[in-house]
Amino acid sequence: MTSRSVIVTGGARGIGKGIAKAFLQQGDRVLIADLASAASWRYDLSTDSQMHETLAELGEFGDATSTNLDVTDFKSCQKAVATAQENYGSLDVLINNAGVIDSGLIEDFSEESWDRIFDVNVKVIYNMTRAALSHLRSSSNAAIVNTSSIAGKRGSANLSCYCSSKFAVVGLTQSLAHELAPSGIRVNAICPGIVGTAMWRDHLMASHGEEAFNSRMTRTIPLGRPQTSDDIGEAVVYLANARNVTGVALNVAGGLEMH
Ligand code: NAD
Repeated sequence: MTSRSVIVTGGARGIGKGIAKAFLQQGDRVLIADLASAASWRYDLSTDSQMHETLAELGEFGDATSTNLDVTDFKSCQKAVATAQENYGSLDVLINNAGVIDSGLIEDFSEESWDRIFDVNVKVIYNMTRAALSHLRSSSNAAIVNTSSIAGKRGSANLSCYCSSKFAVVGLTQSLAHELAPSGIRVNAICPGIVGTAMWRDHLMASHGEEAFNSRMTRTIPLGRPQTSDDIGEAVVYLANARNVTGVALNVAGGLEMH
């Protein structure tokens, strides 16, 4: 396969970093695009220095560059796409991975959190796909992979907003898979299980510590461990490469979710 140009949103750390690494390891060129501005949320989002550290690490695996991006702002998305085109001369693969979480009972859940979660987790796909579409249509091997979750397959108490945003990602993925098939663009979703990133360590299990996190995951996940960013990267690269696969929402969850 010839080397492709890839954008990974939310690529400054966590799962996005693992996805970027996996593409670089197969010889693709990757633009990591992230807020990288220490934005204030229920937990800290990525910082500029995190993005630079990640870029230095990824540089060992291949041709990686970075850009600041706010996925909720269409102009910012257009700028990121233009940067990929400038850096690499094309854009073949779009990874819509940026996301945020908040939790709480529906009666206590703020409208601000509700809107922000949908703006980042769902609107990212609308904004980035529209910004990238003309470039993807020019590619002979184009793919979009959207990050959903096992929370996009099954609802949970305290997570009604996050789960419904991730269900929406699956619906959007299937719709775009139909819509873009005639253009030869494949669209799939990845559904990670439990990856010990900021979402878990700084929010969902912030008061529990490393040992409690690992022991809970060992007990509850059939294959006996939480997932790693590399596990997710491997499966995302598969979805971006597989020439006859579209509209799939693939669980990478050690058996925690099987539907
Ligand atoms: P993370 O917080 O480490 O990464 C999310 C990244 O998105 C951060 O770098 C953050 O700065 C970026 N981001 C947030 N808002 C943004 C915006 N407006 N514009 C651009 N970038 C923005 O968490 P993660 O676990 O690596 O999450 C990555 C994706 O995986 C998310 O979509 C998340 O919902 C999903 N996911 C995570 C898990 C898990 O267990 N960690 C499981 C299933 C799905």
